[in-house]
Amino acid sequence: MSEERIHYRPSWDDYFMAVVKIVAARGNCDRLYSGAVLVKNNRIIATGYNGAPAGLPTCDKVGHLLEDGHCVRTVHGEHNALLQTARISGPTADGATLYTKYSPCIHCAKYIVAAGVHRIVMGKVYRNPQAMDMLKEAGITVTVYKEDQEWQKELLAIFAEEIPERENEGVITLETSL
Ligand SMILES: [Zn+2]
Ligand SMILES: [Zn+2]
Repeated sequence: MSEERIHYRPSWDDYFMAVVKIVAARGNCDRLYSGAVLVKNNRIIATGYNGAPAGLPTCDKVGHLLEDGHCVRTVHGEHNALLQTARISGPTADGATLYTKYSPCIHCAKYIVAAGVHRIVMGKVYRNPQAMDMLKEAGITVTVYKEDQEWQKELLAIFAEEIPERENEGVITLETSL
């Protein structure tokens, strides 16, 4: 039996930033594993990671597509999350909060402003002051997220453990009719 630990209940920012990490892991260009989650009224309305447009060859398979030293094959996570709202019917990005692993590039910053995002929460600030200035100029609330150490410990524990059985109930075997 593992040591009992005190449950850390994540804030909304903790919660969505943890989801961002998982989303980023789906990336298919090793130049940068970034990810973004678009949230409205504390509900996820879209997610996006750095990757080739769906259906096209990926950097993992065919190598990078370089232009001036940057890989331009991928759609960035922030952009992909915004584009997802264009493909799936549902809430728009207008007034939403965008959670992202890194501060956006200048292009994504433009799209974020144009899509009407009101707040952006980022894990790390990248070396691109122009994008940050643009977000601030547009009146977007910018939060640089700092992961709480207790939450970090809880996250490690969550991912290290198997899904525990519920006490006194055992595991129900579902009968399948195939
Ligand atoms: Zn690439
Ligand atoms: Zn970008």
